[in-house]
Amino acid sequence: MKKADPNPKANRNILKLVYVIVALFLGLIAYMAYFLQARGEDVINNSYNARLDSFADRIIRGKILAADGTVLAETQIDGDGNETRVYPYGSVFDHAVGYSTKGKTGIESLANFYLLTSHVNLMEQALNQMSGEKNLGDNVYTTLDPQLQQAAWDALGDRRGAVIAMEPDTGKILAMVSKPGYDPNTIAADWETLTSEENDQGQLLNRVTQGMYPPGSTFKIVTALEYMRERPEDYKNFQFDCNGLYVNGDYQIRCYHGNAHGHQDFTLAFANSCNGAFASLGLELDLGRFARTAQDVLFNSPLPLSGLPYKQSSFAMKPGAGTWEILQTSMGQGVTQITPLHNALITAAIANGGTLMRPYLLD
Ligand SMILES: [Zn+2]
Repeated sequence: MKKADPNPKANRNILKLVYVIVALFLGLIAYMAYFLQARGEDVINNSYNARLDSFADRIIRGKILAADGTVLAETQIDGDGNETRVYPYGSVFDHAVGYSTKGKTGIESLANFYLLTSHVNLMEQALNQMSGEKNLGDNVYTTLDPQLQQAAWDALGDRRGAVIAMEPDTGKILAMVSKPGYDPNTIAADWETLTSEENDQGQLLNRVTQGMYPPGSTFKIVTALEYMRERPEDYKNFQFDCNGLYVNGDYQIRCYHGNAHGHQDFTLAFANSCNGAFASLGLELDLGRFARTAQDVLFNSPLPLSGLPYKQSSFAMKPGAGTWEILQTSMGQGVTQITPLHNALITAAIANGGTLMRPYLLD
């Protein structure tokens, strides 16, 4: 039997190989660190980028948590290593939390970078990588309040519409509900039905940010603001007698349920949401200035919301508008359109003494 000779040349070659591997490995770590910190967010957040899938191959998507730590989305792994994204509250948080298959929406999209970034220590990450194990992505805390969300979801019932609740002095979005909705747990299976041409329910539309509605009486806030701007000294002298039906030539404006509000000053007219008072008050306004005030409160303008798709609200009344258009617009009817999100921003700004805080969902 021949004994293997120690071969100094072979040993040197092995040592060289180890150096090369270590160098490559350090290079990889350096690149990963650079990529994650310097370029990662841009690249990962672009949901059309192919890099996204390569990250998902190495990282188990992190959890999405409510403000109190309640789990709103998590990835579960079965014995065969199959991953399933689970949404314990089903459709209650559908549009707020979004989905992560079939593209990404809601917080799944907003927080994509964090969910696919691991803060497990680098050595453990490297070991996991070499043994083919995935690393755990970071968990993200949101501003959502589960009880408030559930209450809003219940209150909306089977109606189509949207609810948003925001903290005026911080901009935290506490609840965001849009109906009809969908079950994010079965989004892949339901996809064809949800997106079929015959489906006119719009379950995938987040009406909070993308639904356009006539503002109705909530617009009296803007009309009142304009009236106060034009008459800073004497708006308090406004007087109106409401008998439930305001008549101007051929035009008639009815108060809610035909209620006669009686004698109204500015504050009472606002508190009672008196249609007649606001229609008549609208006729006194400078329509050019009114349009600028509408713009000041972000009609026809971008909203300070990043990362979520939204529609711009529209205020179209211009100087020279006819009497009917002025009467209707002043009380929130006519062609003015607003998103529930924007309406919440206007009221929040007023509740916060005139300062609008940027709305946000990620804590
Ligand atoms: Zn009235």
